[in-house]
Amino acid sequence: MAIYWASACGGCCVSVLDVHESLFTVTERADIIFWPIALDTKYADVKALPNGYIDVTLFNGAIRNSENEYMAMLLREKSKILVAYGSCAHMGGIPGLANFFNRKEIFERVYQTSESTVNPEKIRPQPSFQVPEGNLHLPVFFNDVKPLDKVVCVDYYLPGCPPQTERLIEVFLAITNGSELPGKKSVVGARDKTQCDECERKKTENKHIKKFYRPFEIQDDGETCFLEQGVICLGPATRAGCGVRCIKGNAPCRGCYGPSPDVTDPGAKMMSAIGTMIDSNDPEEISEIVEQVVDPAGTFYRFSLPGSILRRKII
Ligand code: SF4
Ligand code: SF4
Repeated sequence: MAIYWASACGGCCVSVLDVHESLFTVTERADIIFWPIALDTKYADVKALPNGYIDVTLFNGAIRNSENEYMAMLLREKSKILVAYGSCAHMGGIPGLANFFNRKEIFERVYQTSESTVNPEKIRPQPSFQVPEGNLHLPVFFNDVKPLDKVVCVDYYLPGCPPQTERLIEVFLAITNGSELPGKKSVVGARDKTQCDECERKKTENKHIKKFYRPFEIQDDGETCFLEQGVICLGPATRAGCGVRCIKGNAPCRGCYGPSPDVTDPGAKMMSAIGTMIDSNDPEEISEIVEQVVDPAGTFYRFSLPGSILRRKII
């Protein structure tokens, strides 16, 4: 088994560590031979393995640079089963929000205009740099962030930001028990329904709203559907499987489990759901109500922009 992080925050690897003592169950059934957060295996060691030697690779993180892409291709070649683990590998995730900008803008912000940067010579990282000791290389930073399946074939998707540890154990046991596995390209460790189907908050038919709020602007009553209180909740467009954890913690769903099976593009689905709830037929008033949604693109595509129909902002 291998576990790899590409353009990731580390949360997915920590979610694997969160199996706690179940890690012994994992190590009883599998040797973990590559896991940069925990083991010092080198890329060259992976390269030296025969093709298909690794039974399962859990690949977390999006594809942001040439190193991520190289490792995706290498691990695809070396693995029988490649799992896109977590929202970033599944749909582009939080790093994918960078697709609202291009490489030039990102470098300008990071290496020049950010409040904490002093760089009068406007130095930028170079992918190749000659020093007396030899040539140093850095990965090439791509213009776009991509989900894993835009670079290599993916066998399964285990969604979540990060995936729930219980779901990981279920999937791991299913693979190692020799149970019959679902068809390739399936979403595993999740359910074929929406968050709303599992949510216990009170819902009213045909509820309309005149105003949108950010969560801190209302006193949540703890029992009424967030959308009906005017707070954007991505439950109608999001696959269940996390156990409605955010909602049970009184926070609206942000969509990290990705689209439910009948939804192609979660952002588009949410915009259409919101459209049906606005309490007005007057175009001007509708515009005013819609304007109240702060950062609509970042809200509706928080985890899914690179894998969506839009994919990125055209700049
Ligand atoms: S899916 Fe979430 S937890 Fe996992 S690497 Fe991406 S941002 Fe981090
Ligand atoms: S929109 Fe959110 S709060 Fe409302 S029922 Fe769906 S998941 Fe629950």
